[in-house]
Amino acid sequence: MSEDFLKDAWSDHSRLWEKNTWVYPVISRRAKGLSIGVNLNPDKRCSFDCVYCQVDRSIPGSNRRLDIEAMTKELELIIQEYEKNGLTSFSNFKLIEESKRQIKDICLSGDGESTLIKEFPAVCERLLEIQHKYSKYNLKLTLITNSTRLDQEYVREGLRYLTQTNGEIWAKLDAGTEEWFQKVNISPYPLEVIQRNIELTVKDFPTRIQTMWCEVDGISPSPEEVRKYIERVKKIYHHHSKNLLEVQLYSVVRNTARPHVLPVSKSFMEDVANQLQSQIDIPVGIY
Ligand code: SF4
Repeated sequence: MSEDFLKDAWSDHSRLWEKNTWVYPVISRRAKGLSIGVNLNPDKRCSFDCVYCQVDRSIPGSNRRLDIEAMTKELELIIQEYEKNGLTSFSNFKLIEESKRQIKDICLSGDGESTLIKEFPAVCERLLEIQHKYSKYNLKLTLITNSTRLDQEYVREGLRYLTQTNGEIWAKLDAGTEEWFQKVNISPYPLEVIQRNIELTVKDFPTRIQTMWCEVDGISPSPEEVRKYIERVKKIYHHHSKNLLEVQLYSVVRNTARPHVLPVSKSFMEDVANQLQSQIDIPVGIY
């Protein structure tokens, strides 16, 4: 789920983070500052196989089992380092002006789908404790998800912790038709499940929709694809418009693991954004 992050700001001097398994600091456009990423999938396990994913699954991931105490230690180490010097002891962070490296959030986002982990509720509960412990920073807790498991009770239990104080779910919806969905996201789950799960989620939790538009094998999404996608977003919006905070549109900006995936044009993105914006009364952003 790391496609929305700027390339992380680790440096040659960042031995401290290199030893980490689950937690990493990044400067994030999305968070508008420093985001602490929590990667629950060093094994790269995901219920999608997106054509635009940056994770190279031809190289096997780590088999290390999640250890919540060790994850907490890594997380606190980064926060404490931030408290000491704003991470300026690390060269790539030092180059970033202070206003752009203010700590903003803790984000569940990594090399796979966080909600596949059975310890998901326990992780969310722990993140809530850390959020409260460092309440002076008003940290947001964010889950970036492909939405495949949002209907599962253990996931919803986790979401209740995650959104208790200041938390959001960022749910992926990349298509209007099953055909494009399978071309872009490649999943054993049908698009209807993704749609239903986002509708279920938006009833109870603050949610943003994230959509990646890209050209695949020389084919761009058709006007009909866009029309059907907008119908889906409108349906989600009408489920509980107060909890749907924003629709975020992205295209490919960095290298993907597959070479035949390219960005769509700026005018395509603007056209989708304008069409959406004229039909729903929430912000639509291009990132
Ligand atoms: S949902 Fe897609 S982009 Fe995110 S980790 Fe899985 S395959 Fe990669």
